[in-house]
Amino acid sequence: MPLLEVRDLHKSYGALDVLKGIDLTVDPGEIVGFIGASGSGKSTLLRCMNHMEVPTKGIVMLEGEIVGVTHKGDRLVPRPARDLSQQRRKMAMVFQHFNLWPHKTTLENVMEGPVTVQKIPKAEARDRALAALKRVGLKEKADTYPSRLSGGQQQRVGIARALALQPQVILFDEPTSALDPELVNEVLNVIRSLGEDGITLVIVTHEMRFAREVCDKVIFLDEGRVADMGSPDHIFGTTENPRTRAFVQNYF
Ligand code: ADP
Ligand code: MG
Repeated sequence: MPLLEVRDLHKSYGALDVLKGIDLTVDPGEIVGFIGASGSGKSTLLRCMNHMEVPTKGIVMLEGEIVGVTHKGDRLVPRPARDLSQQRRKMAMVFQHFNLWPHKTTLENVMEGPVTVQKIPKAEARDRALAALKRVGLKEKADTYPSRLSGGQQQRVGIARALALQPQVILFDEPTSALDPELVNEVLNVIRSLGEDGITLVIVTHEMRFAREVCDKVIFLDEGRVADMGSPDHIFGTTENPRTRAFVQNYF
């Protein structure tokens, strides 16, 4: 069974059809990359996956359960809030902008989710947070405030914050787009190492070399549709889809 499955997903804002019938699966341990032009619907798709956005039509399945809604007879009805937040906990998000609390230390930032959302005892949350910081190479920065960290370090804290939630999958939305070029690699290296540990990752990125080297599957979104999908060798090499070729060519 796939970990995550998207079936005939549509999302419109008024008259604007952003997602026009998306179908895809993410297997446990898989690293899936989303590429596509700005405005093609990548962020909207990620937000629909964890039900931050409610799809206009279609469903997202996580571990065999529909996210955000449930069957009542033959109708779909919203899940109770507690149910939805349990499902959301399994999908941690890492955003382009790190959104760390400026008045909290690194450690406090990473503990925040486990303590306030997951209601985990503080001592345990602290252990988890320290382990997550160690995992991203920032244990020695535990007591530092975000303003004293570089952008790359701040984003690694963002990743530690996601890891501390012990999710089934981490969704990244352009995690390196806000960084100065010399800081991109330290973040990509951390993401790569999570993949090597077998964590399931979904990554929207413009870093084509990274997608080519690290992803198991790459999905090219074009105007709200999956225009092409396959191995990096397919997307960056053998595909005969002219839209994919034209898009990818801009980066090499
Ligand atoms: P991408 O992440 O690929 O750049 P987005 O998913 O952010 O694309 O946006 C796709 C389209 O949906 C854009 O035209 C954007 O303006 C529109 N859009 C996104 N979110 C909203 C919203 N909340 N309300 C109205 N339009 C939106
Ligand atoms: Mg986006």
